[in-house]
Amino acid sequence: MNFTMFNLGTHNGTITILNPETGNHRVVQVKTQKPDAKFASGERIISLQTGSCNETDFKGFGFVKADGRVTIWTKHRGTNLEKIGRIVENPGKWVNRLEFKFAGKCRRCNRKLTTPQSIDSGVGPVCANKEE
Ligand SMILES: [Zn+2]
Repeated sequence: MNFTMFNLGTHNGTITILNPETGNHRVVQVKTQKPDAKFASGERIISLQTGSCNETDFKGFGFVKADGRVTIWTKHRGTNLEKIGRIVENPGKWVNRLEFKFAGKCRRCNRKLTTPQSIDSGVGPVCANKEE
């Protein structure tokens, strides 16, 4: 089983949420704002990967509090982003329907791995081609 319990209250990181039934996945990240950030310095922000780059293409949608609860930003309440926030704040509730995977690092190039296949195999798609 690929499930690892996690607690957003204690850890920053990147988590891939996979729906095995549809094959769809989403990548969320929890990161602490730098002390000198113009926006929400020192706060922990949860964001969703919205583009092709798993390092930079993330869109924030809420704060993660010390108890692991997610406060969804007003404009995103009632949207799919709120749904995602509720899932990662209480993953245990979803174990029968979803798989949660932590981002890995490619064993060849050390880039971040976030797609379910890459996390499982330990190499990204570009390096996988080189290994064949
Ligand atoms: Zn690689």
